[in-house]
Amino acid sequence: MRAAGYYRPQTTDARSEQAAVSAIERYCLEGFHTLSRVVGPGEPPLRDADQYGALVSYLEGLGRGEALIVIPDPRHLASTLDGLVSRLTELDSAGGEVRCADPDRPDPLQHALESLPFAGRPAAQNRRVRESLLSKAARGEVLGRTPYGYVADIDGTFKVEEIEARLVRRLFDLYAGDAPSEESEQPAPLGGPGLRRIAGILNAEGSHTRTGRPWSPVTLSGMLRNRVYTGSYLRYGMRIAGNHERIVARDVFNRAQEVMASRSPDRKRRSLTPYLLSGLARCWSCGRGMHGIERQRQWSRADGSGASRSYRYYVCPSRSAGVTEADVDADGEVLHPSWREAELDRAALGALRDESAEVLRSSFVPVADDEANNEIQAAEQQFLESVRSVASGRGGVSDLITPLEELRTTRSMSQASSTGFTFEDAMDSIQTAEPNGLHAAVASLVERIVVHDGRVEPVYRTS
Ligand SMILES: [Zn+2]
Repeated sequence: MRAAGYYRPQTTDARSEQAAVSAIERYCLEGFHTLSRVVGPGEPPLRDADQYGALVSYLEGLGRGEALIVIPDPRHLASTLDGLVSRLTELDSAGGEVRCADPDRPDPLQHALESLPFAGRPAAQNRRVRESLLSKAARGEVLGRTPYGYVADIDGTFKVEEIEARLVRRLFDLYAGDAPSEESEQPAPLGGPGLRRIAGILNAEGSHTRTGRPWSPVTLSGMLRNRVYTGSYLRYGMRIAGNHERIVARDVFNRAQEVMASRSPDRKRRSLTPYLLSGLARCWSCGRGMHGIERQRQWSRADGSGASRSYRYYVCPSRSAGVTEADVDADGEVLHPSWREAELDRAALGALRDESAEVLRSSFVPVADDEANNEIQAAEQQFLESVRSVASGRGGVSDLITPLEELRTTRSMSQASSTGFTFEDAMDSIQTAEPNGLHAAVASLVERIVVHDGRVEPVYRTS
């Protein structure tokens, strides 16, 4: 596979540069990769951002090609775990797959969990994944089965098993459908039949799993997500360098991921997006805090594939717990409100915009830092869990795009509340409804927002 090396100066010692280049060269030699270029700092040394820019331009210059990016270790690409994830996802979308020249730890995420700090904590606290994998290996436990489509060779690498591989290719081709044409208005692939239908097709042909069972949508979906089929995934980083043969072309694999993302309810992403009025909206009738909830609506397309959309609401927990007679008024109306998220947000911001400037100014109290810190900590924990999960073999680098965005949003929202957040900033946020800092703006003015059916009533902070 085509490869490019990349390294940054770690010390002023020229020997460390030589060591970096030799490590890259050795890695490529052992893995039979063609080292086409080494992007180094140059003389005088480029700034980090400029040198990284040169690497991205190199990848983009390959057109839709792909290349292995070999670094001595993750510190050459970033100084923090989240910084590394940011660059890995960018490089991934430009066709670059990053590997570390360290033969014991080729996977950059696994390496980074023990070599890069995160959120002000030293790397040592992020180690868990590898230690648990190593102890499993030491006990002689099998680290996952050989994926369908491959057999394990004596040296532990995967060799293609042609009959199974044919089914894998067929699955990907069917599911990913045709590539959108160049001149097409529709940039996203439409995809082929859904998983249930493909399982039906394969089973009707008399094909079955290794254990002799019929194919199920769940099994097929696991295969569609498995990066091993693109040939470059090093399982658990426990094998020596050298990639196994791919079964599925990278563009088909990527298209299948896009189709899957467009069809999946994407629960995780949405449930993590914070609700503007969480902790602030209260039911007028029972006084409980309104919960932000998400409901899925699902339907079937004409071709049998599933489609779904999610809707977000605020609802009084007394209502969702099940309504009794005591919760219904004389007209049969439920006393506990339920609002569409967008409508309640709009009503609350509208009420604040209609309030007199004097009232708002006298209620303004920048929100306490504790609250912001808790939110950041929760977001950091989520992010770290996602990185650990991908580092231990579930999914690929592109699965970290959303967690990274969530982390950034939470950090910038919380930053607004803790660093010199003024009354004027709060007013600006409320006028423009720009999401960053909006929660902090509302929380710095109101203690709570009492929610009725069809109207809201802000209760201002009193300083
Ligand atoms: Zn209620």
